[in-house]
Amino acid sequence: MQQDLDLFLSIVNDLLEDEKRNPVVKPIEASRLFETIDFEPGELPALEEDFKETLREIVLTTPRTATDMFYNQLFGGRNSKAILGDLLAVVLNNSMYTYKVAGPMIGVEKSILDKIAGMIGYPGSQGGTVATGGSMTNYMAMLMARDKYAPEARYEGIPQGMVAYTSELSHYSIPKNSAFIGLGRNNLRMVKADAAGKMDVLDLEKRIKEDIAAGKKPFFVNATAGTTVLGAFDPIPEIAAICKKYDIWLHVDGAYCGSVIFSRKYKHLLKGVEHTDSFSVNAHKMLGTPLTCSIIIAKDKKHLYDSFSNEASYLYQTHHDEFNFGKTSFQCGRRNDALKFWTLWKAVGTVGLEKLVDRQFELAEFCRDYIKKHPDYTLYSFDDSISICFNYKDIPARDICTALYEEGEIMVGYGSHKGTEFIRLVTINPSNPDETLLRFFKKLEDFSGVLEG
Ligand SMILES: *Cc1c(COP(=O)(O)O)cnc(C)c1O
Repeated sequence: MQQDLDLFLSIVNDLLEDEKRNPVVKPIEASRLFETIDFEPGELPALEEDFKETLREIVLTTPRTATDMFYNQLFGGRNSKAILGDLLAVVLNNSMYTYKVAGPMIGVEKSILDKIAGMIGYPGSQGGTVATGGSMTNYMAMLMARDKYAPEARYEGIPQGMVAYTSELSHYSIPKNSAFIGLGRNNLRMVKADAAGKMDVLDLEKRIKEDIAAGKKPFFVNATAGTTVLGAFDPIPEIAAICKKYDIWLHVDGAYCGSVIFSRKYKHLLKGVEHTDSFSVNAHKMLGTPLTCSIIIAKDKKHLYDSFSNEASYLYQTHHDEFNFGKTSFQCGRRNDALKFWTLWKAVGTVGLEKLVDRQFELAEFCRDYIKKHPDYTLYSFDDSISICFNYKDIPARDICTALYEEGEIMVGYGSHKGTEFIRLVTINPSNPDETLLRFFKKLEDFSGVLEG
């Protein structure tokens, strides 16, 4: 063990050193990957030196997501307090299904879940779990809603006529999950979004009425807190009023930006969240814990038990359900993804998490300002979003993004809205100073000059 820990530290140190000089690695062309690195496990053990060298080579050529030139997805940066927790979770290797096996780690997870439930204003009968990601927590929400409105679905399959609603700009996991829960993608209504990317509540109610008139049973609405491309927040109070009127489960998908609950300045973006039935948030996005850490809270824990508990005499042999988290989770064996978020939160406090969140909005404002001041840029996204969507001159976004990647300059992606493709810069790494973002724009401008010939 000690030898491998030494090797671990030595490789990590090499990586950290190299990242300072090279924030982006030049990609290995996919078609040449298998001739470049000797991956194949042999019949016999590898020679010690070969093994070390190959491992080091793989680590050092892997895309770098923690550096100041990574803006490609909705995560980034590296938080050492969270990494500390995750490393310990690996070494301990508990499974989170029972108190017998997880012990105090149940307290770690429960403290996070209860604290978040309190922050969003759920009244105290809540339950929650930490799952493998936002796709999974959205799935769990849809399942709970299905089982609430069609309890027979668990034994007979889902009845005909059920319908769900989400905005056309919501995450693709919602249509995928509609298929998984047996609803079918065609029974998910894609509600229109307005010019600012928020769900159009008039369209929502119109479609619900149409479905009811056609004899259907609306049972689930998904509202998004931070849409994946524009970072828009659906209007929860209006949506909640509609859901109450027609008795429909309301879930808030806060995978991307649900973390605004930690900020006194930005939690107004989630106004009304206490009127929802479930809420999910990814700590691995705005809060910078290592992948993956997604939290779902159900207002009434009954629904978690109804959908996810099973008797298993080989597993549940001691303690009360409240301490056996396998009764409220999707998985059987479950990784301890709570500890990394707990080490971060405990160490920096809620004010520390608030700082992380506020800094991301501050950086976003800095970028929007820069773009507005420079006439060669066109801005497509809106205030109160940490996704900055823009184009530079008339250069197609995908051409710039691909060239910057291939040359090992910047990792940034593109998205589209209403038929226009644009660069999507995500200011999700709070450790970046303003100057880093300036460097981002300068690099992009220099590079575009080259592209233009
Ligand atoms: C990222 C994201 C998801 C999916 O979360 P994963 O953890 O990647 O599965 C769901 N919804 C929204 C709005 C997201 O941004």
